[in-house]
Amino acid sequence: MNNKPSRVLLVEHREENARRLTSGLKQRKGVHVRELDLVRVHNVNEARVQLLVGEFDAVLVGVEAPDLAKSDLAALGDRPTGTPLLVYGAEAPEALRDEIVAAGADEYLTSGVFSQAELQLFGSCLRNTIDRSGILAELENARRYSQHLAHHDDLTGLPNARLFASRLRQLIAQARRYPRQLAVLFIDLDRFKAVNETLGSERGDRLLIDVSERLMRCLRESDTVARRSGDEFLIILDGIARTQDAARVAKKIQRELALPHVFDDREIVLDTSIGISLFPSDGEDEEALIKNADAAMNRAKVQSGSSIQFFVPKMNASTSERLELEQSLRTVIERGELALHYQPQVDLFSGKISGMEALVRWPHPEFGMIPPDKFIPMAEETGLILPLGDWVLKTACEQNKRWQDEGLPRFPVAVNLSARQFQCEKPADRIAKILHSSRLTPDSLDLELTETTVMADAEVAIDTMERMRSLGVKISIDDFGTGHSSLAYLKRFPIHRLKIDKTFVDSLLLDEKDEAITRAIIGMAKNLGLSAVAEGVESRDQLDFLRNLGCNEIQGYFVSRPLAPDDAAEFLGANADLVCALN
Ligand code: C2E
Ligand code: MG
Ligand code: MG
Repeated sequence: MNNKPSRVLLVEHREENARRLTSGLKQRKGVHVRELDLVRVHNVNEARVQLLVGEFDAVLVGVEAPDLAKSDLAALGDRPTGTPLLVYGAEAPEALRDEIVAAGADEYLTSGVFSQAELQLFGSCLRNTIDRSGILAELENARRYSQHLAHHDDLTGLPNARLFASRLRQLIAQARRYPRQLAVLFIDLDRFKAVNETLGSERGDRLLIDVSERLMRCLRESDTVARRSGDEFLIILDGIARTQDAARVAKKIQRELALPHVFDDREIVLDTSIGISLFPSDGEDEEALIKNADAAMNRAKVQSGSSIQFFVPKMNASTSERLELEQSLRTVIERGELALHYQPQVDLFSGKISGMEALVRWPHPEFGMIPPDKFIPMAEETGLILPLGDWVLKTACEQNKRWQDEGLPRFPVAVNLSARQFQCEKPADRIAKILHSSRLTPDSLDLELTETTVMADAEVAIDTMERMRSLGVKISIDDFGTGHSSLAYLKRFPIHRLKIDKTFVDSLLLDEKDEAITRAIIGMAKNLGLSAVAEGVESRDQLDFLRNLGCNEIQGYFVSRPLAPDDAAEFLGANADLVCALN
């Protein structure tokens, strides 16, 4: 309980009574009790006005107030719930006292001439009642809060899975009575774990709050959005006219979530996988609908980029393809299922092959070709990225060594390192071991680190990169332009190349802003003594444009798609000198 004075509204029409009460109750006689601060009005009408404009801890009313309706104390005005009301008056028959309490008073106090003893009794009654009601109010708040917690997610304030299920149950019951279609959307953010690890959980939390706000913006008031757990969200679309309306909302959500999320100096772009189930076709109850939307989401997860899947009954056969995939990822290396493909990088001025980027492939016997941007994040989440990354490094180094031994042109093989690999314990030692065992000279290896990876903790990154550089390997910054780099750090990074992200190359000839950015990146690379490499070059026009901007190297379908090792060897043999092809 706090000790600030309690404000009491006194309704008393007789001057003498009012005077005695105000001075008597205000008196404190050195006892350390809560002070009472009385505001006196003459009648109920005036009290109503006071209650509208002021805040009171209690109301004290003389039963003889001229306009008091004893049987309807609510008419006294709008008191905030919990504000106690005490009525005083002459000795009254029990029936009248009961009536007054039944009408909403907390207590009936018997008063005579307001003697000292009586005023003391009044004071202590008032204080006790105020304290009790204060405790009750606090309890009520705590109860409401714990109820809110039990049904809401702490971080985003959204309903949780329990509340979601109970809303869905209600809506299903309504939809049975007044037939209409409902859709359940199961949303999962791709790579969220990796973002969380790279950027730290505080930014991860802010990202989730941002996502929940964006989701709410995409929906109508009658729709429900909930956070199920971690990076999973659930939505009920109430009363959709056509199935396609659910897909339309899902697309809108993906578009909204794909807009960059900006945090301080960083930008994050999110892909999302969305599974959809419909009532009544895909399930009778809330449990089945949520389970089937989940199964559809898992199917969406194994597809490239942001994707949307409606539930189809055969998805039930494997409750969770994702789990199965994760399971099969655990032993993928032993089973020898992974393969590396190689994509040429070409120097625009000499026309020579300046590198080959190793890109991992997983031709899954059941799910077909799974793109790396689906299983690399999975490998990162499960920690499998370390053995997988070692396998990629070892295979790429051995391959390059073999090509060199066959007398093919010499160039560095470029290998992508994920954030977790870069941040693991002594990554340079792992690389040194692999270089040693494959007998590849260090300058024949180029490590591609994404901008986000190295900027996450730039000071530590510099140290790790220095260690790698001291082995003699090269370092490129991959997907440059998609994150936020600080120039001060870039200057200190011991790197060789900047790889300009494909998104800029894509809109090079269409968007002036992207053209300006690409020009600036190329200029900056020159300034820092780095080679600028454009990724994803698909056309002659793009190539010419980039060459005019002073870009040093290109990589992309225009030169070649990533190739299986045998095709790559053939390409290398036939294109030992690409000058003609590019001019
Ligand atoms: P990345 O390192 O930026 O690789 C370039 C991606 O762009 C590759 O996709 C490549 O096939 C694709 N690409 C190249 N040229 C073109 C083009 O002209 N047009 C189009 N549309 N695409 C082009 P991929 O192989 O699917 O790899 C995607 C990402 O997966 C890679 O992006 C990289 O971040 C990651 N990744 C691939 N292999 C590995 C690996 O062995 N380890 C790790 N940690 N990550 C890998
Ligand atoms: Mg790369
Ligand atoms: Mg890239």
